[in-house]
Amino acid sequence: MKLQNNRFCIAGIPVEDIANRYDTPLYVYHTDTIVRQYRKMEAAFKNVKSRICYACKALTNINILKLMRELGAGLDTVSIYEVETGLRAGFNPEEIIFTPNGVGMDEIQKAVELGVHVNIDNIPTLERFGHKYSGKYPVCLRLNPHIMAGGHYQISTGHIDSKFGISVHQLRHVERIVKSTGIHVNGLHMHTGSEIMDAGVFLRGVEILLEATQYFKKLAFIDLGSGFKVPYSTEDNSTDMVTLGNELTARFRNFFSEYGKEVELWFEPGKFLVSEAGIFLVKVNVVKQTTATVFALVNSGFNHLIRPMFYDAYHHIINISNPKGVPRIYTVAGNICETDTFAWDRKIAEIREGDLLAIMNAGAYGYEMAMNYNSRPRPAEVMVYKGKDYLIRKRETLDDLLRNQVEPVIL
Ligand SMILES: *Cc1c(COP(=O)(O)O)cnc(C)c1O
Repeated sequence: MKLQNNRFCIAGIPVEDIANRYDTPLYVYHTDTIVRQYRKMEAAFKNVKSRICYACKALTNINILKLMRELGAGLDTVSIYEVETGLRAGFNPEEIIFTPNGVGMDEIQKAVELGVHVNIDNIPTLERFGHKYSGKYPVCLRLNPHIMAGGHYQISTGHIDSKFGISVHQLRHVERIVKSTGIHVNGLHMHTGSEIMDAGVFLRGVEILLEATQYFKKLAFIDLGSGFKVPYSTEDNSTDMVTLGNELTARFRNFFSEYGKEVELWFEPGKFLVSEAGIFLVKVNVVKQTTATVFALVNSGFNHLIRPMFYDAYHHIINISNPKGVPRIYTVAGNICETDTFAWDRKIAEIREGDLLAIMNAGAYGYEMAMNYNSRPRPAEVMVYKGKDYLIRKRETLDDLLRNQVEPVIL
């Protein structure tokens, strides 16, 4: 989003025009930003055989998946429904990795039938898999190296209390299962959670994963998951992809000669690819002065963007309607009957009732986590692609809210 002739624009289109065309609340994704982020990552790993599997739970709109496919990405999925959405978007099964946790054998079996890569994250499932398929279908193992990465505790998956992955301390057990059932392990995976700033932390996880390769001689790939950070506030930084790319490339070159062959290096960025591409547009219903603060109350809430409440996440907010306004201090909250604050004590260009606000960096885990609490429909989604805006998801209606409700004639 850029200020052009005193109006905020995306690819030259005034954001206000987009809001007028599709109404608010509205998610808008600028695909140029996704392309930029993808290319950045691709360039960082150009000297190793790598695959960028977009972690689609960040934003699963099928048009975004199609764009990722066009860019050459693979897909990381966490439910069988994401797998099937990916197939519908045109991905080949071998371009999709299924990394569920806590799912039943039925979902794993379905994934095998669909022919996608399966990533197993616990020992009981590995055992069942071994008994059922033996060496007939290769699997990847999700290991937990127990490195404590940054970010919020809830999005950190590497700690010792985490439910994710097979602990690296259980590798001997894994080895016994693999030997006795004849499982073919073709990949090792780790995903240590979100927001790793420091290449060093990432590399520590990598070392632990590489140490584990001694148990598995038929690996085709090593999947390093994600944890790549994007800046949310102006003081925030993003993962230095260039440095990470150089360091990982050097380390893996060494590893290939130790291991005796090259394996592919896979990544699963979600947030890194789509977060900055998205803005969430809301309208100010009421400016309410209380004894303690000035609230800007908008036509949305945590039912549409839960990250601030759920993760204590910072999202920058811009007053689209008043680009030159004098900054004042506001608490931006929603219209839900529950505390649903988007931002506390934030300096924003003077807000008037009816103003349009943009909540920035809303591309990842924004729409995806939206819900119908308070019987409010979910927003529409718009994609700005090659300089034009397209509706890619209709706004929900009252009919949508009632669609699956059943009224047996008893009342
Ligand atoms: C959520 C998830 C990702 C993506 O994480 P981001 O922080 O959005 O990059 C990658 N891999 C797995 C297995 C995940 O569950």
